[in-house]
Amino acid sequence: MNKSKAGCQTIGCKVRSCAYNYEGTNCELDSIMVQPNSGCHTGNPAEESLCGSYKSRV
Ligand code: SF4
Repeated sequence: MNKSKAGCQTIGCKVRSCAYNYEGTNCELDSIMVQPNSGCHTGNPAEESLCGSYKSRV
């Protein structure tokens, strides 16, 4: 069964330093790519994955 939600998800994000972030609550992109943090095997969510679509505001 295909449970894909491609094209119909809302991306919540608190990363204010990103150019695509809206008021510390949402991402303005239609989609993002989440990438694994290379070499990390802690199982801690904050360490295992990274937003590969991040773009610095400055
Ligand atoms: S691109 Fe990634 S880091 Fe930037 S606002 Fe969107 S989800 Fe957040």
